[in-house]
Amino acid sequence: MTFTIADLTRPEFEELIHERVLVIPVGSVEQHGPHLPIGTDSHITAALVDELVRLRGEQLVLAPQIPISASDEHTSFQGTLSMGSNLLSAMLKAITSHLSIRPRTLLVSAHGGNLAAFLEASTPFWVPRTHVLIEAAANWELPADARGLWEPDAHAGRTETSVMLALRPDLVRLSQAVSGYNGPLSPVGAILATDGIRGVSTTGVLGDPSGANREEGLAILAALAADLVRTFDQVNT
Ligand SMILES: [Zn+2]
Repeated sequence: MTFTIADLTRPEFEELIHERVLVIPVGSVEQHGPHLPIGTDSHITAALVDELVRLRGEQLVLAPQIPISASDEHTSFQGTLSMGSNLLSAMLKAITSHLSIRPRTLLVSAHGGNLAAFLEASTPFWVPRTHVLIEAAANWELPADARGLWEPDAHAGRTETSVMLALRPDLVRLSQAVSGYNGPLSPVGAILATDGIRGVSTTGVLGDPSGANREEGLAILAALAADLVRTFDQVNT
């Protein structure tokens, strides 16, 4: 049985957390071009956590999703709410250090832009390893089955559009979809770091949503979920 922290009493939590991992989902509120909802990463995070609960529910306690995170690279577009990396890492450190019992904790986010804050918070975490920002973490190794999934269409491109067509097709405005920056991301890393997404893409898209489809989205979700479960199992040892 899976337990949600808000539904437990204190003694129940104390009893359970010795043997379980506290899973804290982290969403994001950031522009995803003209065709995907602003909550795209939150929807994907929730779906992946649902799958983790289905497969490992007996081994975790679920915290509520933190709705706003680090999206400063998108703030030159409307619709982005961001607290920035420094504040997010400070908040995560505070939340985990204030727990009277220090459980094993896993942060889960489909928003790769949270990577810097997660690394700084020194808490085990999972983000899609295929995201561009993973390159910043030299000690990360890309699993073979995840290579190529997210590169080069890192943001609101074919990958995320396919995933959203699988999860919430009612929220995808496919007729509004436009392409964005389609080159490799490594050479423009410095521009992204200083000027954000707008520095390389006026549409707010990195990649091209053309050809996105539900079947591809289901396959990507399955690969991401398998990677998340692997990370969970590493934390839960
Ligand atoms: Zn996204």
